[in-house]
Amino acid sequence: MRAHIVTLPGDGVGPEVTAAAVAVLDAVAAHYDHHFHFEEHLIGGCAIDATGEPLPPASLDACKAADAVLLGAVGGPKWSDPNAPVRPEQGLLALRAALGVYANLRPLQVHPALAELSPLKNDKLKNVDVLFVRELTGGAYFGAKTRTIDTAIDECKYTVAEVERVTRRAFQLARERRKHVTSVDKANVLETSRLWRTTVQRVAQEFPDVKLEHQLVDSMAMLLLTQPGKYDVVVTENLFGDILTDEAAALAGSLGLLPSASLGEAKGGLYEPIHGSAPDIAGQGVANPVAAILSTAMLLRHSLGLEEEASTVEAAVADVLERGPHTRDIGGSAGTKEVLDAVLAAIDEHA
Ligand code: ATP
Ligand code: MG
Repeated sequence: MRAHIVTLPGDGVGPEVTAAAVAVLDAVAAHYDHHFHFEEHLIGGCAIDATGEPLPPASLDACKAADAVLLGAVGGPKWSDPNAPVRPEQGLLALRAALGVYANLRPLQVHPALAELSPLKNDKLKNVDVLFVRELTGGAYFGAKTRTIDTAIDECKYTVAEVERVTRRAFQLARERRKHVTSVDKANVLETSRLWRTTVQRVAQEFPDVKLEHQLVDSMAMLLLTQPGKYDVVVTENLFGDILTDEAAALAGSLGLLPSASLGEAKGGLYEPIHGSAPDIAGQGVANPVAAILSTAMLLRHSLGLEEEASTVEAAVADVLERGPHTRDIGGSAGTKEVLDAVLAAIDEHA
């Protein structure tokens, strides 16, 4: 198959891990006889430096036309002044909104070889396999913001249509997994959460084969630590999803391990590691490329429909996590390149 993929390496470790991800996609293309064409563009701080804007029109146009977008990370101390007229993160929010990618998928698995890195030192970590589906283009992040001298307001708004589409996506994904959806809200306090809950209940009737459970977000924060093995698909609104998925990332042992996919109705999706630009280690060649590499597996699966190729990448990564080499964040001493080379060698074995 032919696919046109836009890369947005961004800032900090973004370019290092994106280069590793592209190398993996090149290897997949060679093994399975696909033709992936890559086109690189600017986003974030480097885009501000070059053009004055965090998401230049050329980048956005290219992303809209692509079959998929692979992003590294944006931001860093150079652009972190909260009073600056433009900030790198605005580029990412604008991109998500413009692409209409309302469903952010964040799978969480705990690899047995890395269980000792997790804060949970017991058998609770066995069989943890959760897929978070976070609503990405609504809620407090996108509502009206006002500020006077002594008052600030962040409007949190959801429409029925916004809740329906992300809920449907979560149930469809659950059908391909263990057929269990946990919807997280704060329906005892928030009006948006009451609309969320009734809408989720109604959509659930379209999926009689999938079991639905509701949890309040405060309980869920606790249950993720006490019974993480109980959950299959967890669907929630933007802010709750942001917080819960960072909590979940801690269970895996390192931010450097977890990928994400952001999907809408259009064919193109946005794929990125969940970690940030990691300025403390940028440019040293020591960033863990696993999160970016696993993001390519999600790209192959969700945007290109290449399930076998996606599984090959995931199996290769699992091998390397099992037998090493490991980067420093997961207790090893290897660099990005050594881990990438090991993954490429494992792809040769599996493909
Ligand atoms: P952002 O605000 O962009 O989300 P952040 O402040 O949450 O960023 P990160 O940039 O993700 O944080 O970094 C948090 C910590 O995790 C840092 O110490 C960083 O070095 C480490 N880290 C993040 N990504 C990786 C990676 N791929 N490999 C190794 N360490 C990483
Ligand atoms: Mg962060």
